[in-house]
Amino acid sequence: MASPAKKRKLNDPKITPTPIRNLDYFFGKKKVEIQPPSTRDATNGVSENEVSPNLTDEQLARKLQAEWNGETPNAGDPELTRDFPEPGPFDYTGAQQRRGSDSDTKLIDSAAVSSQNVEQKDKLEPPGVVNRPAIFGWKDHKTLSLQAAGSAEDTISSNIPFDEDPLTFAPATYVRELKGHWAADSGDASYALLTRCFVLVNSTQSRIKIVNTLVNMLRVIIEADPGSLLPTVWLATNSISPPYISLELGLGGSAISKALKNVCGLDNKSLKALYDKVGDAGDVAFEAKKKQSFTLRKPKPLTIKSVYQSLVKVATTQGTGSGEAKQRIVDCLLQDARGAEESRYIVRTLCQHLRIGAVKTTMLIALSRAFLLSRPPGADFPLKSAKELAKLKKENLAEVWAKPEEIAKACFAKRPNYNDLIPVILEVGVCDELLVRCGLALHIPLRPMLGSITRDLSEILTKLQDRDFSCEYKYDGQRAQVHCDEKGKVSIFSRHLELMTDKYPDLVALIPKIRGDSVSSFIMEGEVVAVDQETGDLKTFQTLANRPRKDVAIGSVKVDVCLFSFDLMFLNGESLLNRPFRERRELLRSLFTEVPNHFTWVKSVDATSQDSEIVLEFFKSATDIKCEGIMVKILDNLPNPRLLVDVEANSDSKEASEVAPKAKVEKEHEKKTRRKALLATYEPDKRLDSWLKVKKDYSTTFDTLDLIPVAGWHGQGRKSKWWSPILLAVRNEDTGSLEAVCKCISGFTDTFYKANKEFYEEDGDHVLSGKPSYIDYEGGHPDVWFEPQEVWEMAFADITISPTYTAAIGMVSDEKGLSLRFPRFLKKREDKGIDEASTSEFLAGLWRKQEEKAPSRVGKTEGDDEGEADDG
Ligand code: ATP
Repeated sequence: MASPAKKRKLNDPKITPTPIRNLDYFFGKKKVEIQPPSTRDATNGVSENEVSPNLTDEQLARKLQAEWNGETPNAGDPELTRDFPEPGPFDYTGAQQRRGSDSDTKLIDSAAVSSQNVEQKDKLEPPGVVNRPAIFGWKDHKTLSLQAAGSAEDTISSNIPFDEDPLTFAPATYVRELKGHWAADSGDASYALLTRCFVLVNSTQSRIKIVNTLVNMLRVIIEADPGSLLPTVWLATNSISPPYISLELGLGGSAISKALKNVCGLDNKSLKALYDKVGDAGDVAFEAKKKQSFTLRKPKPLTIKSVYQSLVKVATTQGTGSGEAKQRIVDCLLQDARGAEESRYIVRTLCQHLRIGAVKTTMLIALSRAFLLSRPPGADFPLKSAKELAKLKKENLAEVWAKPEEIAKACFAKRPNYNDLIPVILEVGVCDELLVRCGLALHIPLRPMLGSITRDLSEILTKLQDRDFSCEYKYDGQRAQVHCDEKGKVSIFSRHLELMTDKYPDLVALIPKIRGDSVSSFIMEGEVVAVDQETGDLKTFQTLANRPRKDVAIGSVKVDVCLFSFDLMFLNGESLLNRPFRERRELLRSLFTEVPNHFTWVKSVDATSQDSEIVLEFFKSATDIKCEGIMVKILDNLPNPRLLVDVEANSDSKEASEVAPKAKVEKEHEKKTRRKALLATYEPDKRLDSWLKVKKDYSTTFDTLDLIPVAGWHGQGRKSKWWSPILLAVRNEDTGSLEAVCKCISGFTDTFYKANKEFYEEDGDHVLSGKPSYIDYEGGHPDVWFEPQEVWEMAFADITISPTYTAAIGMVSDEKGLSLRFPRFLKKREDKGIDEASTSEFLAGLWRKQEEKAPSRVGKTEGDDEGEADDG
């Protein structure tokens, strides 16, 4: 399954607007492909139209049975099932799947391919059988055995109040009963339990409730079935592997629509109608399953482990027949899902859009709290008493939660893989030992430190008063994290932790030359930039993007690159993360060898806030040679005492007098508060003010946002052939929704409009047939809904509170969202996937920042809407 990072680009900085083929696409296609009623579906053996949704389940089942009896002379011949394990009751899905030639057809019980024994089945099948005709069998049953679809639902799980306060929730109350219930099957925690958690999380917008629900669910798993904790965490975070291990589900919308048809007895028309109505594949499954009162065999209860294993199986199945094998696993998952809710979440999981907002940070917080209150049987790490914690004041309780939270986040930032984290947490809990046992490791990428945006150079000088800092060129290439062990093995990871060693064989070959004699192992960071090999001149990001991304043979490299290194995080078996930047930089520069036009250090100049001329000159020189701007990094952990005195002595200087009195007070406050936070250490996964970035685009007066275009209206007059305005949205990280923030008509050229219209062509592959439920927009009806897939960088005049737009609703106002005044398109962010678009949280942060600067705007509500400025 693709992690957000994987979904983003898989190492490819180049825009490759891969058409995301969603259900709409396939349903849309199918519409024209529907066969005449008389034609039997080549794959299903039953024409689509014959599986009418107008029949009740029972009618449908009886109809299929009658057909089958009439048409299958060998039905009931035990010979045909002899090689296979004991089948379950008649499987009507299997009946629909029957296909292939008669002579070599073995009838395989598709029930036996339940998600739990996919492994087993694959062993039983001779090679190639994955392609074979399926499928049905029985034991003694020669007639249909109808099972009430809902009867098997797990009512114990579906009543657990996971959303209760974790300090009153008592897992023990449920553990014994659950274990008894699970013992009837495999003994493993049921998927119903996870579904219950998803349902509750999905029913609230409250972050506190979401965390509480996850904490309680995790506690039950920890106490009742710790072996299921790891798959639980993967499933709840909607992934199956870390980004640097390429495990892709690789399921198209067609596999899911096929499964819905196979399992729920829907035909294309009804499936499309349902999808148009609810707009989310998971919700389609929910509706379809709700209507289905009977299945033709008893579903085998899904467990958390089995679902996870099935997903891994889907991701790892390759080669001839893999499409069918994957389809069968998907069908089985959906068959075995008990009840409508399980079906909804299975399908959402398969679509990689779980929409429960259990993103990484929420999960880490929930894990840290769960392990403060619960431990698995046999473990002996200390716990906190929920009763005692309940007596604490809010702020004291927050302090108790804070430390383990930090530990969990720090571990995951250094080793972002639940497969590493969970087994150790189960053993030792969330404590300092976890930090040691789950630390930095070679060939496992750490999450990179990030730079905070600043709008101009003066903001840097203000923020970094009394500090020594380094200004570095901000090169326009691809960030690379290079790992090299004592044996010389090299791994290279992208900014989003994907493995890209194969992409840069020339860099790999370079490593022995740059590694000084005293260096045995290291982790280094730098920017890979396309350069002219003769002159060393920097080339554009687009040139770099033209490099192929996989299996590049060293002889075939046409775009030469240079690695401009800027940090060293690990050296000779030792982590350097806690060393100040000045020291790390010194090691980097002294222990490695420059290879002209192939490997060097970022160009830099050291300065203080009093060196504004130097900083400005440096910024200009950076932009002159096509750099994006500069990065400014704190060099030492402590303020420079000499500068501290100087600042105070110079408080009447021009610079200081330019600062408004209020800001002066704030600055004093900053001195006390922020200075402490401005460390020169390398802080994985943090965006702190100790790294600041100033881009040339920012030298104008505003911040920019990376927004997702989600819909459009037919333009007027000259623009009637194009989409204008275009609706844009931010990402709500908690809910997974896209929240509309503004309409834009400004900044687009005619060429852009034309290309945009061609890309989002009506009824084309990149538009949706209706408003998807994951888009929040209460305004008028757009003429077209785009399949969200692009990120556009947008400028704007300011942010206003809006009654129309829902972006960041609840963050600055309970009923109103935020919108942008005079939004203006700047450029497509070709290097960003939609998972990296700006979040509602970020937007709210910008709003607060704006309000701090100009409080007069507080409460100012947007005019009528988007303040559509002149078209560009
Ligand atoms: P971010 O990576 O901060 O989330 P982003 O994707 O929008 O944001 P930019 O705003 O372009 O990226 O800025 C950060 C990137 O700049 C780094 O990830 C790195 O690839 C690049 N970079 C270039 N030069 C340097 C440098 N000297 N130090 C650190 N990063 C640099």
